[in-house]
Amino acid sequence: MRIPLIAGNWKMNKTVQEARQFIEDIQGQLPAADQVETAIAAPALFLQTMLDANHDDVLKIGAETCYYEDEGAFTGETSPRALHQMGIPYTIVGHSERRRYFNETDDVINRKVQAVFRNGMTPIVCCDETMGRRESGEKIHWVVNQVSAALKGVSAEDAAKIVVAYEPSWAIGSGTTASSDQAEEGCYLIRQTLADIYSDDLANGVRVLYGGSVKPDNIAGLMKNDNVDGVLAGGSSLDEKSFVQLAHYQ
Ligand code: 13P
Repeated sequence: MRIPLIAGNWKMNKTVQEARQFIEDIQGQLPAADQVETAIAAPALFLQTMLDANHDDVLKIGAETCYYEDEGAFTGETSPRALHQMGIPYTIVGHSERRRYFNETDDVINRKVQAVFRNGMTPIVCCDETMGRRESGEKIHWVVNQVSAALKGVSAEDAAKIVVAYEPSWAIGSGTTASSDQAEEGCYLIRQTLADIYSDDLANGVRVLYGGSVKPDNIAGLMKNDNVDGVLAGGSSLDEKSFVQLAHYQ
């Protein structure tokens, strides 16, 4: 059974004080983790404060990115070893904004996926899809290629723990959510790719999320799909009330 994962990605929003307030406010309001798992990925500089305020320990606190080396002379980067040592279980890898604004290539994303596993964490790997690619019919190859490239050299043992998110960039921050069928199609494609690389069994155990303008009033329609195991929400994860509503989508 795949436990649904409702995850937020705060991106470069909030201050440390606002992050602490959010975590304090949602204590006691989230579903039990064995029913619906909840997570928020936040800027690295808030993570310790968020962990300290998270008394219930129901919500998982994640990072938005990290570097692919464990430590060394890499000014400004975030060490995956240090994240793990803090008690961070998840790190987003390969978000379309990282690909676009920070020139992260498939090779860099693959190295990051390996570094996250090497350090005992789970990557939430994002696959992008632009409207141009969608309309040109190229989207299938692109999503498949991104999953294959991200997992190059990753053992089945590690791959079985991965979370993959289908995040078409035409739906991110645009207010235009993918239709329920489009979300299902993207998530299905990702699961099929995992089955082709590893096995049906492995693919059936991996959680695949949809991201792009997910809101409390459209989450139920997305989650009813067989292959959509959760969401990665940006804007609507910033507000306590709407994040709690997302978590209680059922
Ligand atoms: P929005 O929910 O704001 O569209 O952002 C989605 C996203 O990029 C999550 O990673």
